[in-house]
Amino acid sequence: MPNLFPAFERQEVVVHSPRHVRSFAELEGDELAATAIAWAARAEAARAEGFDYLHALVNEGRAAGASLLHSHSQLVWLREAPPAVAGEADGGLRELLHRARETELEVTRHADVSAFCHPAGRLPYEIVIAADEQLAPWPDGATLVVALEVLRDTVQRLRRVEGSVPWNAWLHHGRDWHVELVPRLATLAGIELGAGIYVNTVAPEVAAAALRSAES
Ligand SMILES: [Zn+2]
Repeated sequence: MPNLFPAFERQEVVVHSPRHVRSFAELEGDELAATAIAWAARAEAARAEGFDYLHALVNEGRAAGASLLHSHSQLVWLREAPPAVAGEADGGLRELLHRARETELEVTRHADVSAFCHPAGRLPYEIVIAADEQLAPWPDGATLVVALEVLRDTVQRLRRVEGSVPWNAWLHHGRDWHVELVPRLATLAGIELGAGIYVNTVAPEVAAAALRSAES
């Protein structure tokens, strides 16, 4: 449905469940599948109208910008890839996957889609979700469902370790698709905002080990 208070030309809300579910962690498999179908269908509709980039994102918790308690995602129609995507290096994801394997940063894996702690995360427990063998600009239907399952699994683990923390996640696509998940466990202050230097107090190996041991 259209966002009631759009900040962009076109902005939509995807309701994840008819049940009153507050967290992505509580969604059922068929609800994740329906969400994946909605994201793909709206990306296609956006492209047909000249919006080449669909920014799909989940904000969970008030401190992460969510104004609705019911689990939902937002789809922002953009004419082109946003700066965060345009600024990512060619081959950057392949490099990240390599570093994640070398330093035991993997948290969980379903089929060929894994979640791992970012080796240089801005905030504690920053996660990247990607398919290591099948890099592609946009995940095919089945792969997007698995990616959302991995996101749910990771959020469940995060809640076991840190409680129901607010978080943001989004799909980056166009080069090599991946999902980024950023728990909001720290406040951005003068160093982060002013210098662009992020002080992360939890080493990624430590974060990954904690999430691995928290069975979802
Ligand atoms: Zn990215």
